[in-house]
Amino acid sequence: MNAKPNIVIIGGGLAGLINAIVLAKAGFEVKVIERKSYPFHKVCGEYISNEVLPFLKTLGLNPEDWDASKISNLKISAPNGKSLSAKLDLGAFGISRYQLDFECYQLAKSLGVNFLLNTKVLDVSFLDEKFEIETPTQKIKADLIIGAFGKRSNLDQKLNRKFFYQRSPYLGVKYHIQTDFPKNLIQLDNFEGGYCGISKIEKDFYCLCYLAENKHLKNYGSIPVMEENILYQNPLLKNIFKQSHFLWKQPETINEISFEQKSLIENHILMCGDTAGMIAPLCGNGMAIAIHSAKILAEEIIEQCSEGINPKKRATLENRYQQKWHREFALRLKIGRGIQNIFGNKILTSLAVSSLRKFPSLTQKIIRKTHGKPF
Ligand SMILES: Cc1cc2nc3c(=O)[nH]c(=O)nc-3n(C[C@H](O)[C@H](O)[C@H](O)COP(=O)(O)OP(=O)(O)OC[C@H]3O[C@@H](n4cnc5c(N)ncnc54)[C@H](O)[C@@H]3O)c2cc1C
Repeated sequence: MNAKPNIVIIGGGLAGLINAIVLAKAGFEVKVIERKSYPFHKVCGEYISNEVLPFLKTLGLNPEDWDASKISNLKISAPNGKSLSAKLDLGAFGISRYQLDFECYQLAKSLGVNFLLNTKVLDVSFLDEKFEIETPTQKIKADLIIGAFGKRSNLDQKLNRKFFYQRSPYLGVKYHIQTDFPKNLIQLDNFEGGYCGISKIEKDFYCLCYLAENKHLKNYGSIPVMEENILYQNPLLKNIFKQSHFLWKQPETINEISFEQKSLIENHILMCGDTAGMIAPLCGNGMAIAIHSAKILAEEIIEQCSEGINPKKRATLENRYQQKWHREFALRLKIGRGIQNIFGNKILTSLAVSSLRKFPSLTQKIIRKTHGKPF
């Protein structure tokens, strides 16, 4: 009999899939419950910091095999179009979530991870050291649960998480486009109340993804009219919209994006990735944090629970995971919240861009503070 606890992971994004891969490799019985079915698109800028590369390669995941782009330069423009450029010391790669999550899913499946797809978890309870997970068709028991259900989910409401009730003004929109644009550049164009990132992914596709204020959508009634009135105020952005070929009829969208602090453990569920806390997209580090936090959590589970689980081991696991998470990510998320406040404001953004143009070393410092080191 396997003494190792059986593990259910709720949510099969990057945090969930990386946890599944690491734990399956260590011989744990793992089930992932995902409400969608792979491959699928997701709102995300699809720019990933190279800090994740050494670890991904140890798992057998190599973005070069999937035609990922290599990104080495950054350009940031203020709403008036004035811009600054910087070199990205560590660099990044570009790959669609459609492809990346699908590659992770296939690897996890080949390692024996059990997937329950097109299945939404409705509720979770914990009693006598066992979890019970409720889906529309069945109840599933587990010894350990990893919450990797992303930035905002029905489960946040079920668990009465504080951030769920604090309204957030942000809306996320993503397109895939074909355009005439440098292959190695990530360009962040600011506009009133938001910003838009453009960078290359696989094939000859580019990802165009932006964060805007909900109030603009309410005022203008539709995404295209909002884009024309708000995003086009930045001449660089207007030019990209005008000269690109948009591959989808409708963009992917999400609402109510929150950067508030979240709890890492809720009713003994171990939260990971965006479910534990989300860094502002402008920092371009959310996926790296999802992958890194999954590595930390899965390795801690392996260390504490390979011989089984009991209340004492559970308490140690929870404490150590929280300590490690805070040490690695708390400051990065805090700096991200500060940057979000500046770049959400038209005047402050213009001031920030003209100041950073004068002090290029400050731009490098901010990039370093919001990114991690290779792991
Ligand atoms: C506009 C925008 C742009 C961004 N750009 C970038 C970028 O360029 N670079 C970067 O590194 N990061 C970026 N990010 C952040 C990045 O997308 C996230 O940090 C990353 O996706 C987190 O991964 P995750 O696994 O935690 O969550 P997700 O990838 O969101 O996965 C969560 C999964 O849980 C599933 N799920 C939810 N509820 C349930 C349920 N009840 N039952 C079953 N399944 C459920 C969902 O379907 C989903 O697949 C951006 C974010 C936004 C909003």
